[in-house]
Amino acid sequence: MRLSSFFMPTLKETPAEAQIVSHRLMLRAGMIRQSSAGIYSWLPLGFRVLKRIEQIVREEQDAHGAQELLMPTIQSADLWRESGRYDDYGKEMLRITDRHERDMLYGPTNEELITDIFRHSVRSYRQLPQILYHIQWKFRDEVRPRFGVMRGREFLMKDGYSFDIDKDAARRSYNRHFVSYLRTFARMGLKAIPMRAETGPIGGDLSHEFIILAETGESEVFCDRALVERDVLQEGIDYAGDLQPLVDSWTEPYAATEDMHDSALYEALPAERRVQARGIEVGHIFYFGTKYSAPMGAVVVGPDGQDVPVEMGSYGIGVSRLVGAIIEANHDDAGIVWPDAVAPFRAGIINLKPEDGDCTAMAETLHGRLRSAGVETLYDDRPERAGAKFATMDLIGLPWAVTVGPRGAKAGTVELKRRATGEKEELSLDAAIARLV
Ligand code: ATP
Ligand code: MG
Ligand code: MG
Ligand code: MG
Repeated sequence: MRLSSFFMPTLKETPAEAQIVSHRLMLRAGMIRQSSAGIYSWLPLGFRVLKRIEQIVREEQDAHGAQELLMPTIQSADLWRESGRYDDYGKEMLRITDRHERDMLYGPTNEELITDIFRHSVRSYRQLPQILYHIQWKFRDEVRPRFGVMRGREFLMKDGYSFDIDKDAARRSYNRHFVSYLRTFARMGLKAIPMRAETGPIGGDLSHEFIILAETGESEVFCDRALVERDVLQEGIDYAGDLQPLVDSWTEPYAATEDMHDSALYEALPAERRVQARGIEVGHIFYFGTKYSAPMGAVVVGPDGQDVPVEMGSYGIGVSRLVGAIIEANHDDAGIVWPDAVAPFRAGIINLKPEDGDCTAMAETLHGRLRSAGVETLYDDRPERAGAKFATMDLIGLPWAVTVGPRGAKAGTVELKRRATGEKEELSLDAAIARLV
């Protein structure tokens, strides 16, 4: 992609309305644009990152056996009257009336809708377990939408739902999600720590929030350093086997948000293992039994021929919030530092002197060869000052930058820079390409 034609409206000034670094950087890099309070358009650079994150979420859900579907954003109020939540949900719910005066709403979550699909489709315990998920926009009329996409009103969520015949089976579905969430966030370069959570308005008796540590987090959290240092991607995972020992090993060390905090337990930890920090909630899993299946009549015929309400859980990931959260965890004074797995492009190409024939020939060759090799690049071919080009590359945070200058172009070399470390290397064109594919 050529930067001269790429739609990336960067800002020179730091937007005054943005209170936290991820919001400032997303606006400055031209990733998003606010259309009204807490509602954003995703411009091409931001949309690329959103899709990368969505794809990692999808792969890890599919890997543990969840099936993707797509439910609508607009729902009928009647379903929510059946569960009793239509009145309980309050002002966070955006209520809509259609031309026939029917009460509709923009879904803030989908327990009712998925339970309705399930009860019309599944009759026997033999068809269980079922785990269904979708990645869809939600609307919550937050009292204080703020921090850009971190607390929006319209936001993208992965929400999944499990249906099982009994508590033991439901626990297995819960464990699959627990482990897949650890992997999902780790693949994005994040350390997300599972913390026992209150079950809140969804109700039920087992729940964990997945929290990443960042100064700008909205809640105070406490945990054992052992959890921060652990790397789940190094641990073999067999979804067909018993996940309980693995889940136990993650839930035994102390970890709690302020609502669930037990200072006596925490202070019993050796001082060097105590971590007190601010946290951002990026995922949340619940087991809530028959809270929806019982009132809504989602029953299956059990092994003894009797109808039993199914045991359910629900599992959310804040896909759009993650874009901001990843920046909170990965930036420096010059801008964003994307982890490789979610970067909008793998590398930038900086042509220092587009008016120099050798430079341009080499930059064009590089751009073409990387494209043929399947490496996505953003090629800065604009007639700008070198300083401005370096600043733009640093701001948008691509993992690698390849600089082509007049001296190197004569000698057949380029400079390869790693954004995360600032390390620079002079390499032949072939060696630089080999490094990036
Ligand atoms: P919060 O405590 O931040 O208000 P929540 O507990 O209300 O979030 P859940 O109902 O657990 O949210 O939804 C699942 C996930 O959706 C959350 O873990 C979070 O990552 C994301 N999410 C929730 N509300 C928002 C929002 N307003 N903007 C962006 N993402 C959100
Ligand atoms: Mg909330
Ligand atoms: Mg919460
Ligand atoms: Mg939550």
